[in-house]
Amino acid sequence: MELIRSVRSMQEAALTVKRSARRIALVPTMGALHEGHVALIRAAQNRGAAVVVSIYVNPAQFAPHEDFKQYPRDLDGDLAVCRREGVDVVFAPTDEEMYATDASTWVTESLIAKRLEGERRPHFFRGVCTVVSKLFLICQPDVAVFGQKDYQQWKVIQRMVRDLNFPVEIIAVPTVREPDGLACSSRNRYLDPLERAQATVLYKALLVARDLFNQGEFNAHRLASAMIRAIELAPSARLDYAEVADGETLMPRSEVRRGDVALVAAYIGKTRLIDNLVL
Ligand code: AMP
Repeated sequence: MELIRSVRSMQEAALTVKRSARRIALVPTMGALHEGHVALIRAAQNRGAAVVVSIYVNPAQFAPHEDFKQYPRDLDGDLAVCRREGVDVVFAPTDEEMYATDASTWVTESLIAKRLEGERRPHFFRGVCTVVSKLFLICQPDVAVFGQKDYQQWKVIQRMVRDLNFPVEIIAVPTVREPDGLACSSRNRYLDPLERAQATVLYKALLVARDLFNQGEFNAHRLASAMIRAIELAPSARLDYAEVADGETLMPRSEVRRGDVALVAAYIGKTRLIDNLVL
């Protein structure tokens, strides 16, 4: 396995792979790798491509009051996971490599990115779209793998790729969960044992919505109310949003259809978690 830390070396390595007529599959991550990331790596390998895992905590997608500084970083642990999984290249650039101090060019998606996460975290999707565009230009993937755990991010990236004609196929991997249903997330490391136990309310709320939908409840407002009540059962939880939206555009719904998506965001103690479930 090769560890690459500079943009230039990564572009050269990508060209070498391309000359050998091998395809490249990119798995973009912020590190602190867990079973969710491993599922993405395995999906990339199933494409028979050379697998590049990028590990970069992207400052552009954090607001000043958010957890950029505290975000878990464990390059040695991540390299061990990648080695064990047979990853070909880890691209782990420094901030200086990725952004000029006076960088002034940004990529924005302006429909899907406006709602939900984008409403609460105004810089978030601009940071994500910019860094993913840069990673595409640096790593030259034929395929890039994302998690459905970050459903809105997946849809924003799909649209960006369509709108800007990136020659990259996007594949999405279903959310990997802990045995009790909590979606794997690097931020779960912030939870103390009591919070960890209560963090399952996000998934429980989504299951309530799915059960009601399967019983014939199509009213989006009533489904959202049921999710909110479920989340409020946990004393450590503070709701951010709970909503059912169009599965492609993430626009709000009044009447819910199959393929729409239930999305929740809540603070468990100080930790903000998100989850979703397609109905
Ligand atoms: P992150 O390192 O949190 O930025 O995530 C990197 C990629 O892994 C994104 O495409 C995420 O959607 C995906 N991912 C994170 N957690 C999970 C999970 N529990 N199941 C599937 N994919 C995930």
